[in-house]
Amino acid sequence: MRIYGPIRNNSWALALHGGAGGWVEELAVQSEGEYAQGLRDAYRAGSDVLEAGGTAEDAVVAAVLVLEDYPLFNAGRGSAVRCDGSVTTDAALMLGAGRAGAIAATRWARNPILAAQRVLREGDCVLRTDVPREQVAEWGLEVAEQDYFLTPGRIAQQRNVAAGLLAAQPHGTVGAVARDASGALAAATSTGGMVNQYPGRIGDSPIIGSGTYARDGVVAVSCTGYGESFIQGVVAHEIASLLRHAGMTLADAVERVLREEVERRDADGGIIAVDADGTVVIGHNSPAMFGAFLDQTVTVLV
Ligand code: ASP
Repeated sequence: MRIYGPIRNNSWALALHGGAGGWVEELAVQSEGEYAQGLRDAYRAGSDVLEAGGTAEDAVVAAVLVLEDYPLFNAGRGSAVRCDGSVTTDAALMLGAGRAGAIAATRWARNPILAAQRVLREGDCVLRTDVPREQVAEWGLEVAEQDYFLTPGRIAQQRNVAAGLLAAQPHGTVGAVARDASGALAAATSTGGMVNQYPGRIGDSPIIGSGTYARDGVVAVSCTGYGESFIQGVVAHEIASLLRHAGMTLADAVERVLREEVERRDADGGIIAVDADGTVVIGHNSPAMFGAFLDQTVTVLV
């Protein structure tokens, strides 16, 4: 297990992840530099928002948008392919003030995090599955066909997993957590789910409290890894509970939850979190973790 932090940031704080599994051999462009570039671009998009006095919500959405558009990560374009050869996406956005929006098993939104943001804004429900094309268009969001999401590397990866040549690792899901200068927190997560998953399987990413959670005055958390364990361990909310009710530090809470809720289930994954003071912690028990945070300069984990 590796824990980075506590890292103390200034008036604002931002941390990103690009999944817990490491490189995907099948992806045509697979150099470390390409992954690092995606994380740097995303970090810049989010930190530009915060530097200009923008909100934590706008920062996490800006960062996740970049990673969704980047074909190496398992979110938006380049999402993991299901066993039926198609791509669906899951995404969640939660604001520390208490509101959340999420979408799951949805085909049509080119940028799933924007669809999750629409659900949050509408406010009449928290999680929508299989959002119809017409609804995505009505929200004023860009509609994309399967061709847009499917990349040759991800198609090859799914075939290799289906043929038993490769394990279905949780690769490339993306997430962001932020604290803005006013102290508000936000968390966002976006994924295509697990490679070769069956239609209708939904992981932790869009489940509020499991893969994504934020509460002002406490913490914002985004997770990646074997979603079933993160759901059963209610991982993101458990971290908040350890801070609130047990008075633990963020680093101790992340380490404990990885051990007791993820490792105990023989699973692996990673967590990014920022607390009310803007302290950032990143932890993972997976062999690798893509991440980005500010520690004097932008540090990228690949
Ligand atoms: N947590 C995601 C899921 O289970 C996968 C991942 O993090 O890559 O759907």
